[in-house]
Amino acid sequence: ENYHAVLIENRKLYNEVQDLKGNIRVYCRIRPFLPGQSRKQTTIEYIGENGELVIANPSKQGSRRLFKFNKVFSPAATQEEVFLDTQPLIRSVLDGYNVCIFAYGQTGSGKTYTMSGPSLSSTMDWGVNYRALNDLFQISEARRSSISYEVGVQMVEIYNEQVRDLLSSASTQKRLGIWNTAQPNGLAVPDASMHPVKSTSDVLQLMNIGLTNRAVGATALNERSSRSHSVLTVHVRGMDLKTDTVLRGCLHLVDLAGSERVDRSEATGDRLREAQHINKSLSALGDVIFALAQKNAHVPYRNSKLTQVLQSSLGGQAKTLMLVQLNPDVESYGETISTLKFAERVSGVELGAARSNK
Ligand code: ADP
Repeated sequence: ENYHAVLIENRKLYNEVQDLKGNIRVYCRIRPFLPGQSRKQTTIEYIGENGELVIANPSKQGSRRLFKFNKVFSPAATQEEVFLDTQPLIRSVLDGYNVCIFAYGQTGSGKTYTMSGPSLSSTMDWGVNYRALNDLFQISEARRSSISYEVGVQMVEIYNEQVRDLLSSASTQKRLGIWNTAQPNGLAVPDASMHPVKSTSDVLQLMNIGLTNRAVGATALNERSSRSHSVLTVHVRGMDLKTDTVLRGCLHLVDLAGSERVDRSEATGDRLREAQHINKSLSALGDVIFALAQKNAHVPYRNSKLTQVLQSSLGGQAKTLMLVQLNPDVESYGETISTLKFAERVSGVELGAARSNK
């Protein structure tokens, strides 16, 4: 009832949000409390059917804020539900679109859970990455009599503005023909090996190599992985057997570095450098998407390695999906708000404080 009034009041703004976004979609996923967190307070007050989200700090009066996204997934949402809402986007890659899906949020908010999943052994756990490739294989198989598809993957890590190939040790790499990295349209990530894949098991094998390589040189995998961006790029080339025409699509699946702000007074040396690089690349990403949402003539792709790598799937005809991950607990309130503000900015419109009718 209270919220209903608030929501009606903001309907005009919602429409504005929808108009501005164009090819940019924003979904929000709230992870559940983890075992041992059961008595914590939550900042999630309300999740609407149409992407409304009300956040409040229970110990801070007047802190209630309303956000609006294309979709909000509650902590009860399954991996499958999240995938179902991204599937149409993923399938458009087979029709020649470029698509970028990235998970954004503080460390521990569920980015890796959403993109990769907590384990590869159970298909129920599979995240967007594996489900996407699985789906692409299934559809391409179904279209086999009219279109012949080839799929190749690349996997890189961006750490301190350096791009590292995570699959260079895999034996399947191929640099010839259609997988030539010198594509005129810049589809491929330069200097990263390309690996043709034909089945989900090929993909799982490569992912395992990639994950192992990601751990190399890191004191603790979690630490390193939370401070680097990981980018899985899926290239699709389809030959229409009737017309002899070729279509190309590209899908970037990105698990971003943790967005948490690092206290400048505490961080020094490597930690400070990492934090500066992360800040720089995340704000460069925000600037690019903001420029696209505003239909600005100049889009600042060159400001970070991340936006350079993703350029082919940001802007133009490309479709972008931002998966905003949130921690529900009250200790994360500050980070939650700054994550949501980033998302709000990216989607082009700020709604401001939610009015309560109490
Ligand atoms: P991030 O990649 O953002 O640092 P993780 O994906 O590693 O975060 O998630 C942090 C923890 O929360 C992990 O233990 C993960 O298994 C758990 N988790 C995240 N999202 C969910 C979810 N939707 N359901 C159950 N557990 C989750």
